Amino acid sequence: MPVDLRSDTVTRPTPEMYRAMAAAELDDDVLGHDPTTRRLEELAAETVAMEDAIFVPSGTMGNQVALATHTAPGDSVLFDEDAHMLFYEGAGGAVFNGVQARTVPSVHGVMEASQIATRFMHRSEHTPGTTLLCLENSHNRAGGTVATVEEHSAYRRAADALGIGIHLDGARVFNAAVALGVPVSEITSKVDSVNFCLSKGLASPVGSILCGTKGFIERARFWRKRMGGGLRQSGVLAACGIVSLTQMVDRLAEDHERTRKLAEGIAGLSGLEIVPPQTNILMIDTDRPAADWARALESEGVWAVPMGPNRLRAVLHKDIDDAQLEIALLAFQKVRNAGLS
Ligand SMILES: *Cc1c(COP(=O)(O)O)cnc(C)c1O
Repeated sequence: MPVDLRSDTVTRPTPEMYRAMAAAELDDDVLGHDPTTRRLEELAAETVAMEDAIFVPSGTMGNQVALATHTAPGDSVLFDEDAHMLFYEGAGGAVFNGVQARTVPSVHGVMEASQIATRFMHRSEHTPGTTLLCLENSHNRAGGTVATVEEHSAYRRAADALGIGIHLDGARVFNAAVALGVPVSEITSKVDSVNFCLSKGLASPVGSILCGTKGFIERARFWRKRMGGGLRQSGVLAACGIVSLTQMVDRLAEDHERTRKLAEGIAGLSGLEIVPPQTNILMIDTDRPAADWARALESEGVWAVPMGPNRLRAVLHKDIDDAQLEIALLAFQKVRNAGLS
């Protein structure tokens, strides 16, 4: 078995998840409500302290459904310059939702609250009108960096002063909450909608959850169906999501701890510079091309992905234990000593 550090999306379901899938009470979630899916949605809403929630097949769909529900075509939407919603979602904001992106400067993935108002546009004969601010916490491309609760309060104040809504791309918001040592609701209470992934560190095989007010989720349900995301016996998947939320959140701290250990081990190797990790993502700047490093590590049984010409990414997750961490550390040392140079 390779030590798979490509992403936390590679996690396999836990034994509890397989048992929950087999035992799940099911119905058709398009014709009515699947009871297990509904249970997950209610649990999710309660967890983030919002009125309601909807299960969606992917984080990308959750974000795009949220955009569709918050905005109208032609609106201007604010993102940080390296947002997943801009970089990775196939221009869904433009293609499905007809919104125009405007970017707000950020430092290590954390948007500067003081800059939000400077990017706002009034609706006029000439200008589109800004209606929504999109945040990301933890921040994927910045390397799992975390915006604090205080920063979220500042975003809320800025958005309220401008009269615009906030959507949080919280694919890994539980990693952020665990890193900050706060309940996730401390973060989510300062946004109007949040999308989070069950299929990353929380170890479910499939699925994300979009949360918001009752009215918002009712409209989101319509958009989900329109985008092809209405699922039938989705309780098979939702059963895993319930295990994710009840059993897999607190253990994220272990992934963060192992990420720190990997960073410490690599920091001593010549030609490699680490970006100090805040959660479960480690960015490693490489002297030689990252693709060469990835190939050499693969021959030692360790998988990591190049994120740029000289940047390698390693992501820790529940299927990496201390023994595998040790293998990964040895592989980096071995490749270095063997003179990938
Ligand atoms: C993974 C991720 C998504 C998208 O989730 P998928 O389930 O892969 O579509 C959205 N935003 C961020 C920040 C992510 O890391």
